[in-house]
Amino acid sequence: MGDAMIQMQDVSMSYGTLNVINHLDLAIGAGSKTVIIGPSGGGKSTLLRCMNLFERPQEGEIFIDGTEITQIGKHELCRMRQSMGMVFQSFNLYAHLTVLDNLTLAPRLLKKIPKKEAEDMAMERLGDVGLSEKRSSFPSQLSGGQQQRVAIARALCMQPKILLFDEPTSALDPEMISEVLAIMRKVGEEKSITMVVVTHEMGFARSFADRVLFFDGGRVMEDGKPEEVFLHPRGERTKQFFSRILKSA
Ligand code: ADP
Ligand code: MG
Repeated sequence: MGDAMIQMQDVSMSYGTLNVINHLDLAIGAGSKTVIIGPSGGGKSTLLRCMNLFERPQEGEIFIDGTEITQIGKHELCRMRQSMGMVFQSFNLYAHLTVLDNLTLAPRLLKKIPKKEAEDMAMERLGDVGLSEKRSSFPSQLSGGQQQRVAIARALCMQPKILLFDEPTSALDPEMISEVLAIMRKVGEEKSITMVVVTHEMGFARSFADRVLFFDGGRVMEDGKPEEVFLHPRGERTKQFFSRILKSA
């Protein structure tokens, strides 16, 4: 098993007759920073959702830190999920809760951390994303970039081993994209956190990732260091994808 944090073995996932993950074997190393790119509809979100079993594949095994999560019961899965944070394109903050309550809810409810302790940690994480002064604001009172920074801080409050990002900047205005990417870079300096990021930000991917996967048609079509995948893509589909992206840039 080596030191894989996420290991997928012969995983297949379909929605009805539509096959979205196709006999996938994939190992993500502990502490690694992986960027997944690929065309819309290629199955990237489904792949991330399989990693924490938000989506249950019909075939195959998935191991998280050595535990086969496709075998364990509900209770243990719930505990495993606490070590896996997810950040979504649409932020998914609780609209009726303040920023501080958004950050303390899961630690208090799931980890039974006392209020004061949870709030102290939340304020530290808010400081990390530069939003200490927004502790009493509601999500609707924040910009998109600020909401996403809060969502990242919230994920960090669970002290995750794994952070999954599904197009975290795709809903943001251009000037806010860089502030969110900067926070992700900072989080990435934490060597112990395994990060898997689906993004179309190629510049970020090149400088941030130690591994880039091109995912399309339910399969990994390219897999390598950023410079290998970006400068010397092997597949025709990858070349086409890049030339389309470059044209639209
Ligand atoms: P990507 O994130 O790369 O754009 P997705 O994983 O969202 O791709 O989707 C892959 C395919 O699966 C698409 O054809 C999409 O329409 C389909 N799909 C995604 N989620 C569902 C669902 N819950 N039910 C049915 N089809 C879905
Ligand atoms: Mg998607």
